[in-house]
Amino acid sequence: MKTDKPQILFATNNAHKLDEIRAILSADFDVLSLADIGFDEDIPETADNLSDNALEKVQYVHHRFPNIPYCFADDTGLEVKALDGRPGVHTARYAFADRNDTEANTTKLLTEMQGKSDRTARFRTVIALIHHDRTELFEGIVEGAIATERRGTQGFGYDPVFIPEDTGKTFAELGVKVKNRISHRARAVKKLCDFLKNQIQTDNK
Ligand code: IMP
Repeated sequence: MKTDKPQILFATNNAHKLDEIRAILSADFDVLSLADIGFDEDIPETADNLSDNALEKVQYVHHRFPNIPYCFADDTGLEVKALDGRPGVHTARYAFADRNDTEANTTKLLTEMQGKSDRTARFRTVIALIHHDRTELFEGIVEGAIATERRGTQGFGYDPVFIPEDTGKTFAELGVKVKNRISHRARAVKKLCDFLKNQIQTDNK
């Protein structure tokens, strides 16, 4: 459906992330997914840090669709203190090097955390935006802790074992509405959104 809102492409194949981003951005932007533009290739993620991975993803898609004025990609890592910051950039392929298996990833994390008294962890998202051939990065962090077992049914990925600070509940127990107010991605998207609003005002002058 055509709207008056400016179009922005989110370079992801993750339906959960798309729902989260649409809930946050759709008041101001017409958010397009890769499915909306008929793009179904695997996007490479070969860098050794979140920022470069987000940049690699957005550059790959922007190269194919240079006429879409705003395009962004995100990369997220779970950084656990007792594991020296792991899984970090390997969060998606923590259990298996060749694929993202949520159940196996979560089980591996719970196993590695067995007997650890310091369960401090944080989720960190980096968003890379390309607009008019300029690149911007936005970071969002939520501090928290790793639960001792899975709790809750909502969300995706590591949500059943991540307890954002001051809540006492996992993201999977808190649900998408609360998660969208406090999550790593929500915080990065807020910065993206503020930037975009300024940019659009400048573009319209
Ligand atoms: P990526 O940013 O899609 O590469 O995500 C890296 C890994 O973190 C994947 O295994 C995701 O399932 C997981 N992940 C990303 N965002 C979240 C989240 O908001 N909650 C729980 N897991 C997440």
